[in-house]
Amino acid sequence: MVIPFGQPWITEEDRLAVDAALQRPILTHGPETEEFEREFSSFLGDAAHCVTVSSCMAALHLAYLSLDIGPGDEVIVPAQTHVATAHAVEIVGARPVFVDCELTTGNVFLEEIESALTRRTKAISVVHFLGIPVNMPRLADLAKRHGIYVVEDCALALGSRYEAKHVGLFGDVGCFSFYPIKHITCGEGGMFVSKHPELASKARLLRSFGTERSPSTCSKYDVSVLGLNYRLSEIGAALGRSQLRRIDTNLCRRARNFRVLRDLISGIPPISILDVQQNAMLSAYYCQQVLLQPPLAEKRDTIATQLRTMGVGTSTYYPHPVPRLKFYRAKYGWNSDRFPNAQRISDCSVALPIGPTLSESDIRYVGESFVAACNLWTH
Ligand SMILES: *Cc1c(COP(=O)(O)O)cnc(C)c1O
Repeated sequence: MVIPFGQPWITEEDRLAVDAALQRPILTHGPETEEFEREFSSFLGDAAHCVTVSSCMAALHLAYLSLDIGPGDEVIVPAQTHVATAHAVEIVGARPVFVDCELTTGNVFLEEIESALTRRTKAISVVHFLGIPVNMPRLADLAKRHGIYVVEDCALALGSRYEAKHVGLFGDVGCFSFYPIKHITCGEGGMFVSKHPELASKARLLRSFGTERSPSTCSKYDVSVLGLNYRLSEIGAALGRSQLRRIDTNLCRRARNFRVLRDLISGIPPISILDVQQNAMLSAYYCQQVLLQPPLAEKRDTIATQLRTMGVGTSTYYPHPVPRLKFYRAKYGWNSDRFPNAQRISDCSVALPIGPTLSESDIRYVGESFVAACNLWTH
């Protein structure tokens, strides 16, 4: 039995959709990208303005460009996240100010944000860690009191809601990823989402060299801003649309797999499972993040290796707190006492697969293998 950690869920329908896109004369920025934006907006709700882009990193970069954040500005960034959340701040010349996370959800520790604010702070970025939504009403309230923007990294949070409202719609900009092993994929791709039409228009302009219209539909154009090429192709959009049609089944299977696996492993080895903490929170269940407690905590790598030999793929979210990564450590220094929770999550947790391609019996195998690997160290 071989169960990979992340496996894109590709069906015959997806292949037909891609093939149909390939048979049309327009291969980038045509009807597929426009429809994908409309359908994505209707899935999120609240008439969100959606702009297709080439990745979540591209969406995050466009977020700071469109908010006019740059040199001299500071942005609050969770220490426990994908490096893209911080890189997007760096790339516009602003300074990321890192804050620690909660041990129960992996989400940013709201109490710490207030003390990290300075008069240079222009925005707070948050990541919905592995699909667990941040308490956005509280965060939005904090941002409003201080008059600063909110950028939501929703790369692993398609389907996450807080009080029934989809994440990405609370802040000024929400950024989604369609990388192969996210909830849905375009091969590579992303979505810039905003409730402000003027921010969406800016992003639209910046994603395509700063041209007012798509070069494929207009041979004469002028350029008034310094833009990039962050376009999503028609082929990618066709795949994304086809995948989005199955999002409800996808989310149901993830939630079921999460519950089945949790029931198999919780209580047997000394672990805790990161999950939602309130009824108002609906997780998109990206994976099963298990935080190992002593004496398992220091055996994390050995347990992951053991699982691999049993045919169960695991992953690490994320291998380092961002400020511990070489680039950030060299630029801002690293103090190992500063982000204790983010460090524990990076060093002592194992992410187990619960994706939509896995059946209940696959999940049973994952659970039994995990318990067996842990038992080697506790008995
Ligand atoms: C994967 C991921 C990204 C990067 O997404 P890309 O589409 O590959 O740029 C950003 N943030 C988080 C939280 C992620 O997990």
